[in-house]
Amino acid sequence: MELAKLTITNAVRGLRAGRFSAVDLVASCREAIAARNADLAAFLEIFEDAEEAASTADHTRKELGDLSPPLLGIPLAIKDNICIVGKTASAGSRMLENYRAPYSATVIERLQRVGAIFLGRTNMDEFAMGSSTEHSAFRPTKNPHDPTRVPGGSSGGSAAAVSADMCLGALGSDTGGSIRQPASFCGIVGFKPSYGAVSRHGLIAMASSLDQIGPMTKSVADAKLLFHTIAGKDSFDATLREVALPVGDPEVYPRAMDIRIGVPREFFGEGLDPEVSTAIRAVLDRLREAGAVIEEISLTHASLALPAYYIIAPAEISSNLARFDGIRYGHRAADAENLAAIYTRSRSSGFGSEVKRRIMLGTYTLSAGYYDAYYRRAEFARRRIAWDFNEAFRSVDVIVGPTTPTPAFVLGTRTEDPLAMYLADIYTVGANLAGLPALSLPVGTVPSGTARLPVGLQLIGKRFADADLLDIAEMIEAMLVLPHSASS
Ligand code: GLN
Repeated sequence: MELAKLTITNAVRGLRAGRFSAVDLVASCREAIAARNADLAAFLEIFEDAEEAASTADHTRKELGDLSPPLLGIPLAIKDNICIVGKTASAGSRMLENYRAPYSATVIERLQRVGAIFLGRTNMDEFAMGSSTEHSAFRPTKNPHDPTRVPGGSSGGSAAAVSADMCLGALGSDTGGSIRQPASFCGIVGFKPSYGAVSRHGLIAMASSLDQIGPMTKSVADAKLLFHTIAGKDSFDATLREVALPVGDPEVYPRAMDIRIGVPREFFGEGLDPEVSTAIRAVLDRLREAGAVIEEISLTHASLALPAYYIIAPAEISSNLARFDGIRYGHRAADAENLAAIYTRSRSSGFGSEVKRRIMLGTYTLSAGYYDAYYRRAEFARRRIAWDFNEAFRSVDVIVGPTTPTPAFVLGTRTEDPLAMYLADIYTVGANLAGLPALSLPVGTVPSGTARLPVGLQLIGKRFADADLLDIAEMIEAMLVLPHSASS
């Protein structure tokens, strides 16, 4: 079981030194999965071909020796909305329960090219709509830190799999917080790259102007490794830009005293759990002691982020999900007597209630007469939000605050109240609307009954300065493991 607990970075060292093989790593992950997946429901499916891929990787390593790419033989988990040719990609929905991907996502091809291994597909909120993984059409995932609580969502399965050491790292997708919020709830690193840094080709689309694939890992160094492999131009996604990649050399990392940190006062307002606030402020104090400049800033339109997101995302959802009509893709109702009935019955029985709610909201806000009142105004708010971030970045290098207003909540407590569920994304949606890179870093735990629950610090960076953001995050991560006195 122990090997599965390794970070990717340490596993790479062990593989290189010949201390263990990729086959050993996969076996260790399998053991952890066998021990905990029945309870946690992190994976929807375990791929049978992982062992074979591992022994191929071991063989390749013998041939290539020191030239082996770092990720050769590293077992990863993949969110169920990222296509792998020949395998099911259900997006957590009955609609695509039996859908087999006819091609692989660009991120998958890139990882496969360097010999990474896919252990299985992870549970998620249906079509990535949700913040708890309870909207999965199959079953809810549980939080490994406290199984009475949610792991967050929508990439809750990936977060739980990494947190429970069932894999070494995972991919998630983030449209409004779906990588960072579950990472925060499960105590792992979750990185949403800049919009346009990682190809969306082969990601089952939710809201195309916001979606981004990113790594979920046990350390920032691991997130860098995965990002390094999946980022970069791709002819299948016209939004991509070549971004600077992290160098991975600790000598050139920023030191705390060289960075200016902006702390938006809007991220510490009403609704923030006092324990979370204290934990985040303690990290800021340590950074200040270490010499960082901490500046209170204002993101004046921050309160518009959630309302704007919940107009823009459903609008794009209503158009993206129109393709699931019972004809071209997925589930088709058996008893329909004509074409109109195929559409309505297939969509009625194939989609869950949250997906239907979003499609209806989106269709409404885009319809004649309402477009100007809702969609246009939300787009206007989106520009103001992006503008606020740009202004802030004139005086600070990074913007920091809590990833989520509360630690992981108890299963079943928000499923009947969509607004309470949406509030879990209040600090994360802004980065998606503005296209900025953002990362959740585990910075400690807070007491909750008999358990302790993880707290995540969110760091938001300048657009396409993903490498700088990762470097700053790694510096903070290193500072937090040092004894307190050594940090100044
Ligand atoms: N929880 C948010 C939503 O339900 C974000 C989802 C996501 O990032 N995919 O829309």
